[in-house]
Amino acid sequence: MKRSGSVFVVSGPSGAGKSSIIRRVRGSFSSLAYSVSHTSRKPRAEEVDGVDYHFVSRESFIRMVERGEFVEWAKVYGDCYGTSILSIERATSEGFDVIMDVDVQGAANIKARFQGSILVYILPPSLEELSRRLKNRGTESDEEVRARFEKAAEEIRNCRWYDYLIFNDDLMQAAEAMKSVIIAEQCRWSRQLPEARKLFDLCSS
Ligand code: ADP
Ligand code: 5GP
Repeated sequence: MKRSGSVFVVSGPSGAGKSSIIRRVRGSFSSLAYSVSHTSRKPRAEEVDGVDYHFVSRESFIRMVERGEFVEWAKVYGDCYGTSILSIERATSEGFDVIMDVDVQGAANIKARFQGSILVYILPPSLEELSRRLKNRGTESDEEVRARFEKAAEEIRNCRWYDYLIFNDDLMQAAEAMKSVIIAEQCRWSRQLPEARKLFDLCSS
């Protein structure tokens, strides 16, 4: 039987660099699947439906909530975002690790449902730099940028209950740190023991 994959949950204030880091990490692991969330927010120019998000109308989203299709969902910055149960269970049951970008409420719900989940919080080097990145990204209106930035300081307090904190000052280094977390978790004895047992006699002496 295939071992079940791990769930990596990435959170952080808007503009911290979560998507940029995940994009770099995804290419490095053939055994890592990305959990594509559903959202009622409009796609940004470079975003692709089914790849970055499943973009749905608010009505469709509510219907999915009513049918119990989400393991968790939340209203974030005025739009609805949710993780479908299928997107995680299909991948982990096939032995894939799963990485996802969800807010702090979502992370708490995922941890409650998938107990061994690994929670990673991405921090910007400073609030000033976060503000610069949000503005330079140019994907939100000035008002939306302000709303996201105003939530940042409060949102960052939640990093205290995460398993790992990664400062995204230099993007390459932050992506390497995220890869190291994944590799370290893949090396946990509880994950490797079944394979070691197959290869060696591990009876206690
Ligand atoms: P998030 O997914 O957390 O909202 P993004 O990955 O979209 O954040 O990053 C926000 C903006 O900051 C993007 O324009 C991205 O290119 C830029 N960015 C990400 N990491 C860095 C970094 N280490 N240094 C400078 N700019 C960065
Ligand atoms: P963005 O609009 O910048 O892509 O994402 C806004 C926020 O929604 C981010 O904090 C991101 O982590 C969060 N988010 C994205 N997908 C989900 C999801 O499926 N569930 C929850 N709870 N939050 C999500």
